[in-house]
Amino acid sequence: MESEDDFDMHDVNESGEDDFYSGRDDDAGAMASYDDSDADDADYEFIDNDSDDSVDYVSHSHQQNYTILSEVDIRQRQEDDITRISTVLSISKVEAGILLRYYSWNVSKVHDEWFADEEKVRRSVGLLEKPVVPFPDGEMICGICFETYPYDLLHAAACGHPFCNSCWSGYISTAISDGPGCLMLRCPDPSCVAAVGQDMINALASDEDREKYSRYFIRSYVEDNRK
Ligand SMILES: [Zn+2]
Ligand SMILES: [Zn+2]
Repeated sequence: MESEDDFDMHDVNESGEDDFYSGRDDDAGAMASYDDSDADDADYEFIDNDSDDSVDYVSHSHQQNYTILSEVDIRQRQEDDITRISTVLSISKVEAGILLRYYSWNVSKVHDEWFADEEKVRRSVGLLEKPVVPFPDGEMICGICFETYPYDLLHAAACGHPFCNSCWSGYISTAISDGPGCLMLRCPDPSCVAAVGQDMINALASDEDREKYSRYFIRSYVEDNRK
């Protein structure tokens, strides 16, 4: 039937146009991030591509062409910075990650602040040298739900304040859905400044939350290096 054929043709054209225009939008977005005046070697661009939910990292070179850094490259640079700080300051890699995040991934700033006044840095960042309460070795009461648990079902940050795995999981999940502030998470005890690092997240969060946290972690590295 002639009229139905016409209708089908029109339908195909319309969807073709949609694809064409959405493709052009993506290109325009990528071009807009290009900046001739900026020849900084270590300046990263962060582009969210809505169409496939992937993330591209772009660095300007001195030739003012794009150098595409893969996520693997970025993670390697981030890992190198963490390892350097961990080695020089004799702290764990998790602590080095918290410290670098606090000082916007500025390695020399972390270095200077730490050796100027380690105590002050530890206090403001929440890196405790020893627990403020002894971690339980028998049964203890969770500080959130007030149920009694054997110690192997409780976790604590460096401070020692015990909370059950289920309360930790809820606490972490709420923080992660609130956004990148979860990277500076502290102990649930309101009077406590102890930092909660990626090791706790990996042990206590759901797979989905772990993945989100990991995205925030690398994203903060990219965004802080643009500044
Ligand atoms: Zn609990
Ligand atoms: Zn605490």
